Amino acid sequence: MQYTDQGINLTREQLDEMQVELLRETLQRARLSPAYEGKLDVAPEDLRTPDDIRKLPLTSKDDLRAGMPEGFLAAPKREVVRMHYSSGTTGLATSVYHTRNDLRWWAECVARGMLAAGVTADDVFQNMMGYGLFTGGLGFHYAGELMGCMTIPASSGNTDRQIHLMQTFGSTVLHVIPSYALRVLHLCEQQGIDPRRDLQVRIIFVGGEPHTDQLRRRIEDGFGAKTYNCYGLSEMCGPGVAMECAEQEGLHVCEDHFLLEVLDPKTIEPVEPGETGEIVLTTLRREAMPLIRYRTRDVAQVLPDPCPCGSQHRRVSRILGRTDDMLVIKGVNVYPMQIERALMDIEEVGRNYLIEIDRPADLDRLTVNVELAQDAFADNMRELNALRERIVRRLSSELDVTPEVELHEPGALPVGEGKAVRVVDKRKRGQAKNHG
Ligand SMILES: [Zn+2]
Repeated sequence: MQYTDQGINLTREQLDEMQVELLRETLQRARLSPAYEGKLDVAPEDLRTPDDIRKLPLTSKDDLRAGMPEGFLAAPKREVVRMHYSSGTTGLATSVYHTRNDLRWWAECVARGMLAAGVTADDVFQNMMGYGLFTGGLGFHYAGELMGCMTIPASSGNTDRQIHLMQTFGSTVLHVIPSYALRVLHLCEQQGIDPRRDLQVRIIFVGGEPHTDQLRRRIEDGFGAKTYNCYGLSEMCGPGVAMECAEQEGLHVCEDHFLLEVLDPKTIEPVEPGETGEIVLTTLRREAMPLIRYRTRDVAQVLPDPCPCGSQHRRVSRILGRTDDMLVIKGVNVYPMQIERALMDIEEVGRNYLIEIDRPADLDRLTVNVELAQDAFADNMRELNALRERIVRRLSSELDVTPEVELHEPGALPVGEGKAVRVVDKRKRGQAKNHG
């Protein structure tokens, strides 16, 4: 029997109503946890619209750490059937608990995205994400089974075997970290395998690390497969919080499961639709560990226009970075990934760039050094000036700050070992904090 999704066709009014109702239930459950006990004293009648969420306190990763190991557990332990443990990139790991219902809803969230991308029970799904405490593997595994796919728990690593599995079993759907997808392509090339000809992959889900649209296109070209972005974090469940539809333009948040806010990370005020801010999420159905207004530190925008696919679940852009990377320039929040994204839209721009911020005459100055592509580099100064102006305009519209742009010959900017240093902030430490 083919899986069908009950939540995808909800209208905006139904979603709003449902969010308020589920939020009230969530608060009741959350109050049972030691961490939220006595901290959520908002009466049900004071929660009338989803915006009333702002009457509730925020929850941070530090709060989760302070509550380790069971501070946020809101269900009797005998109802818990799984625990995931999130290392995170900074600091100590935190635990996340799931009841049987939590796992069922999680699988349905991921399955919704698989359905939207066109996955069916006829597909062979090779899940190349790590199984274990990391949620990427198991999160998609049960969704693949729910969809009726023949699900191969390949887990991550052992690239030779991954390719062997794809060839032998005719895998049509993959779930993979984008940088690892490139590694698979590289090894295919070395082995004389043309993925477009020799493999049957048609749909790829990527997630687990921020990446640009350029990288997505490279994966699509390499495999000859449509590639869909997937967002999630273990504190919410794992992958499946938001996934792209067939339009490949923004990720629909499962708003019947998560209440989405996008806030300015400094003022904690909501940003306008289309503006960049921190994603803050409230679980609406979680039983074992409801979280209220959890600060993800992930930065994105809500796309203001309705999606042509018809879904009323709001879309967020791909993740543009972390709040930790945020630069404040002339009082405006700027994320390095925004600059990268704008630059990569311009054909004449090469691979390397360097962002410099300094403060001559007590005024912040943002300089973006841009290396040109080989064939775009011309000696004609008038053409170069026109190109420079075009880059300035593109960056200004993306950033709400007008940068200075300097063009460089291909290969002129320094290339570091390993992860490239893209940002040099020459302002005195602490000055950035004086803004805003
Ligand atoms: Zn859509």
